[in-house]
Amino acid sequence: MRSMSISVGKLFGVDVRLHFTFLLLPLFIYGFEYAAHRGNANGPRDLALVGIILACVGAHEWGHMLAAKRYGLIPKAVILLPLTGVAIYDESKAEKAQPSALMWIREIRIAVVGPLLSLGLACLSAGMIKAASPGIELWKWPWLAAGNLPRSVVWANLYLAMINLIPAYPLDGGRILRAFFSRTIDPSAATRRAVSISNAISMVLIVAGLFSDKWLTVVGVIVFSAAQLEERALVFQSVLENVRLEEVMLTDFATLSPADTLEDALDKAVHSLQDDFPVVRGSDMVGVISRQRILDALRAEGNGYVQAVMNKIFEVSVRHDSLGSAFRKLTARNSSIIPVVEDERLVGIVTLQNLMHSMQLLAESRKLKREEQEG
Ligand SMILES: [Zn+2]
Repeated sequence: MRSMSISVGKLFGVDVRLHFTFLLLPLFIYGFEYAAHRGNANGPRDLALVGIILACVGAHEWGHMLAAKRYGLIPKAVILLPLTGVAIYDESKAEKAQPSALMWIREIRIAVVGPLLSLGLACLSAGMIKAASPGIELWKWPWLAAGNLPRSVVWANLYLAMINLIPAYPLDGGRILRAFFSRTIDPSAATRRAVSISNAISMVLIVAGLFSDKWLTVVGVIVFSAAQLEERALVFQSVLENVRLEEVMLTDFATLSPADTLEDALDKAVHSLQDDFPVVRGSDMVGVISRQRILDALRAEGNGYVQAVMNKIFEVSVRHDSLGSAFRKLTARNSSIIPVVEDERLVGIVTLQNLMHSMQLLAESRKLKREEQEG
């Protein structure tokens, strides 16, 4: 999910990431300007134009996330592409926002906020520019160019509002289309259908751009990348909800006893790949402890017993719980291990480390299987 993007910091608690297509944008702009002005491109102005586009996309996405918040979806991260963004919402709080019959209306409301906000910003900036310096011509080609940055602010917002209405998922128009599909078919099938339509539109744009305005090709490539990103998030989501813990839990694992000394425990930890250990007395689960906790306790207070430093409050799961529920339990308690029990007997453990690993593998294998079925 995080691949092909880099983190650029946090804004209002949301991890803001830039997709690699954003990193290519300065090159595109420089190239186009270079060609347009017969070798006279202006590097700093080109970068300023990238900055303007980034700010406009950021504002657009912020609008979506504010709307989503009203429905209980808490944004955790957002990946910005030059035309759109892919927001990632907090899984641990997603349960409250589970699907209702009117989910498609919610989706449409969240989708339309973006283009409306961009349109509003275009009008606002046009008004401000006209008031400040009436000499600037806003209706003059090229609309979006490094040569006239104020005019570019207006047009970047206008373009964002217009392009986002194209029904190519995950642009807002595509999201609205998907919401309509999801009235009659299940959400993941609706997304797949929207992504297929989107891929077809991207291809048309990419090819059309080769014979006319090169920016069409750029838009096609960006939409195509964004659709892949969303589809991957969807596969992840379906793995989270459909895979049972028994499919991924570790059944061959080390345990500690509450009567072990911390030095003994550390000794055992050295011989294991696990970072977290269930503490078992007889056949009862009595606590959990991490390698780090053992080390910290040894450093702070010297040798003692596992009993004294283990975490006695922990969540347990059963075989048939979903990966998603395990994830939510782990993040809610800020812990990194969940014992899986059956008839009060410990039958396996799930750790954060092992969840991350298996999710990646399962997502890949599901995608392969689906491609086999479809191809
Ligand atoms: Zn949008």
